[in-house]
Amino acid sequence: MYASSSPTSPSAWHVVETANFTIRGTADRDALRRTSDACESLRALLVRQWFDGASSIRWQPKCAVVVHASRADYLRHVGPGGAGTVASARIERRAGKIVGRRIDVRPTPECLASSALAHELAHVVLADHFAGERLPRWIDEGFAVLADSPAKQSRHRRDLHAALAAGAEYRLAELVTLSEYPSGQHRATFYGQSASLVRFLVEHGGERRFLDFVASSLEQGHDQGLRQAYGFGLAELERRWRAAEHDRATELADGAERMAEMPPLLVTVAGPEGG
Ligand SMILES: [Zn+2]
Repeated sequence: MYASSSPTSPSAWHVVETANFTIRGTADRDALRRTSDACESLRALLVRQWFDGASSIRWQPKCAVVVHASRADYLRHVGPGGAGTVASARIERRAGKIVGRRIDVRPTPECLASSALAHELAHVVLADHFAGERLPRWIDEGFAVLADSPAKQSRHRRDLHAALAAGAEYRLAELVTLSEYPSGQHRATFYGQSASLVRFLVEHGGERRFLDFVASSLEQGHDQGLRQAYGFGLAELERRWRAAEHDRATELADGAERMAEMPPLLVTVAGPEGG
């Protein structure tokens, strides 16, 4: 089905199957094999770190990873919104179940075992844990950014600090209700602020508590979910988070190069960015 939806001749496509992935692409089989190995180990790493292996049931259907023949092919599949990305994940839900998992990848030489792949896999793994539930955008992206390379995470942090300095950040009450991706400069603020908030919560109480918070938020809303998991509501989270970011910005102003040293909470993989 992927071959027929692409202008490339079907015979030029190779397929590599693993336990949880079907990798298709026009790249040579060795490159696809390396991609499939990277996908399986990143998935295992994410599941181990976040879910104590509890979500380690094999994916059915498998996650399709499509390595496109060209940038144009990639954009045809993911839409013009993917112009600044090298990978993009899509989850299909039906009647409370996940019925489709797919990651489209742009054919850059480095993309196959990259930070972008880790970011998109984080989306797929998180969606799997919460099965049919549509997650709030800030939680989904903030979580996935933790799988990005330290360099990429530092860029998000810089975007956030620029927004804070300009007073252009979101109030949390607004951020948590965003259902679409903002455009322009707001998009950079959205990523930076979402990533910072998720990191703040994970550093505050660990991975398990963060996932408990997500689960109760889905049922009872953010304020109640926070109270249940952390003992404070949205207004108090905003106050604590702002204080922590203010301290961090002051520290960084004293030694800006230390931004690049921000430790990853998840996996460290060098490479270009995803979406
Ligand atoms: Zn993303």
